[in-house]
Amino acid sequence: MDLGLKGRVAIVAAASKGLGRAVATELAREGAQVAICARHAEGLERAASEIRKATGSEICWQALDVTDASGVPKFVDAVEKRYGRVDICVTNAGGPPAKTFLEISPEEWRAAVDLTLLSAVYFAREVLPRMRKNQWGRLVTITSMSVKQPVDGLLLSNSIRAAVTGLARTLANEFGADGITVNNVCPGYTLTERLDELAEQQAKSAGIPREKIFERWSSQVPLRRLAKPEEFAALVAFLVSERASYINGATIAVDGGWTRSLL
Ligand code: NAP
Repeated sequence: MDLGLKGRVAIVAAASKGLGRAVATELAREGAQVAICARHAEGLERAASEIRKATGSEICWQALDVTDASGVPKFVDAVEKRYGRVDICVTNAGGPPAKTFLEISPEEWRAAVDLTLLSAVYFAREVLPRMRKNQWGRLVTITSMSVKQPVDGLLLSNSIRAAVTGLARTLANEFGADGITVNNVCPGYTLTERLDELAEQQAKSAGIPREKIFERWSSQVPLRRLAKPEEFAALVAFLVSERASYINGATIAVDGGWTRSLL
């Protein structure tokens, strides 16, 4: 299937590792010109060079913390100056800390809102007017299966990602008439560094080996295994393509069937 992504200009946030990197790679493989960011230059440089080598596509990068309200506009501006426009934006960030209610301070709540919700707002504010000018655009927010079914121990994720889902759904209404689709994609347990960290943390507090945590997670998934980042990226690549032109305002899980909801 030709996704029609050749020559499209895409921004993928928080993309030196994990899900973001897998999305950037998939879009580059489809012929898009991709700009990535993350906080650490070293990881970005490595990711960009490996993606370039694997796909033959142009990749540019900039060290940026997605919670930086003035840094995000400068980054989007730089991408537009370099490539002439911005067609696609995939918002993403690191995960908020895994804690239960009484462990979380008000400062941690604020930091998690900055990281998870406001970072998506900053990107949306910059890219949507540009996409409106071109009467074409694709915005995808990356959240979590926790927006469909809360995950025990991930209180900040369970609470704040719901707000991102509400944001995406509302933007889909506000910008649909401009040829822009906005969708939200919810990863399930996917083998990335973030999942390693969560496994380590849970193994320590339960006093069991981390392999047991991975086994426990796998057993909760109807497919009886965890996802590879590429399996997640495949859906995002489709959603930002020409072929997904009538999919708008959707919240789609890539979780192997983990969420037990009907819709
Ligand atoms: P990951 O492997 O830890 O990668 C996170 C990426 O985000 C890295 O490139 C990191 O680079 C970048 N990053 C982190 N904080 C940032 C910030 N403030 N500004 C800019 N870049 C930042 O994580 P992942 O598994 O890909 O997860 C991505 C998102 O999906 C997270 O929010 C995670 O909670 C969520 N999620 C993951 C899973 C899963 O199973 N993997 C499931 C559900 C939801 P730097 O450190 O250099 O900034």
